[in-house]
Amino acid sequence: MAAPQTELASQLPPKDTSDGEAFSRWYVTAIRRSELADYFEPVGGTMVIRPYGFSLWENMQAGLDQRFKATGHKNAYFPLFVPESFLKREAKHVEGFAPEVAWVTHAGGEELAERLAIRPTSETIFGHFYSKWIQSWRDLPLLINQWANIVRWEKRTSFFLRTTEFLWQEGHTAHRTAEEAQEETMRMLGVYADFAETECAMPVVRGRKTDAERFAGAEATYSIEALMPDGKALQSGTSHFLGQNFARAFDITFLDQDGQRNLVWTTSWGMSTRILGGTLMTHGDDAGLILPPRVAPTQLIVVPIPTRTDEDASRVSEAVARMLKELAAAGIRAEADWSDKRPGWKFNEWELKGVPVRLEVGPRDLQQDQVTLVRRDTRAKEQIGLASAAERVGVLLGEVQQALFDRAVAFRDANTHTADDWATFKQIMQEQRGFISAYWCGSAECETRIKDETRATIRVIPEDADAGGPGLCVLDGRPAKARALFAQSY
Ligand SMILES: [Zn+2]
Repeated sequence: MAAPQTELASQLPPKDTSDGEAFSRWYVTAIRRSELADYFEPVGGTMVIRPYGFSLWENMQAGLDQRFKATGHKNAYFPLFVPESFLKREAKHVEGFAPEVAWVTHAGGEELAERLAIRPTSETIFGHFYSKWIQSWRDLPLLINQWANIVRWEKRTSFFLRTTEFLWQEGHTAHRTAEEAQEETMRMLGVYADFAETECAMPVVRGRKTDAERFAGAEATYSIEALMPDGKALQSGTSHFLGQNFARAFDITFLDQDGQRNLVWTTSWGMSTRILGGTLMTHGDDAGLILPPRVAPTQLIVVPIPTRTDEDASRVSEAVARMLKELAAAGIRAEADWSDKRPGWKFNEWELKGVPVRLEVGPRDLQQDQVTLVRRDTRAKEQIGLASAAERVGVLLGEVQQALFDRAVAFRDANTHTADDWATFKQIMQEQRGFISAYWCGSAECETRIKDETRATIRVIPEDADAGGPGLCVLDGRPAKARALFAQSY
């Protein structure tokens, strides 16, 4: 049953980030009440992305897609079903994915001769086609992206962050040399970082994963990591240098300029609806969501203030119509709420939904040829002349976008600690969480022990990890070349 309208916002629990369960309650309730998404109970771990949530995803998709095309990639669509024999061709790949795969064993009323995986990722299908399509060095590089849904069976689920079926994009590229493939891997990591920071106002750290956290079948995995308000890291995009592992498994060879037949070098990279969840967690408050203007489905909501006289009513509706026209002409996504609910209720609802700026049009303001603008993040109000309002909104949206990013950077910086001894490391992880920069000797044993004792994993070895010179491992004191970045994670 739907909640009574007046209780909509008041039923939202506060955004209490000190306690994981309370924070999760805020997150789930805000998503449901704002009509972004809902769970599909008959199939545990799956969800529906409602129109408001899907508009948000479409804006994110557009920001990513435009960046992929600007870096020379083309979109295509590959089959959903992956034959078991394909997955088995790369030994580490199948071993890594086997526990999460959903299999189709029956179809058309018969048992299939070979069971089919519902794609958990598509390296093998791309490999199959690339071996047919790539013949000579002239066919390289081959740069293809696909937008698709993925199935990985999950026992613990959370909206957008972890669901059995999710939406993503996966890029798969093939190159003539190892250097070119490595460059591509880093280029796309950079694209992800730029997207997260510019569009989602979410600061990220980038770096290389340890062997234990590497993608199954990759030579090296890189990721961008964002720090959530509860002090846990969210892996928000990954880029893999696959070496020649998949080229060997699928026989992807080409005739090089010197007449030699060589294996190609491949990469893959993916970003999912998880980035949407991260954006929601990063920016909301006790009143609900705060959406970064660049990706918000509605950037500005116009709330007409009720009037006593017909003359005032027509003046308000004329001003609203004029504003909507000018905002549309300025490329601003705006709409008016003409429902018969009270203004106070409308304010709460649109705040809950995270619309970055509200425009109030009332008879008293209009007597002075003014309207009122209220920004969602600080709730600061300003009166502005009707004639210059659209222009001011454009500037204000940019200011909100920047303020959200600055606030997230300040939070991230205040919650990034340095620990040079084990007692300090443990204390920080217990009492404050956040990122810890600490020397690590490179041994898997230390990595495992640190995880067992503090639940913190190495999120990345940052690009500038060796800037401070060598040091001593925070756990066992052995020599360490560089610092790693530790955190508990989603
Ligand atoms: Zn160590």
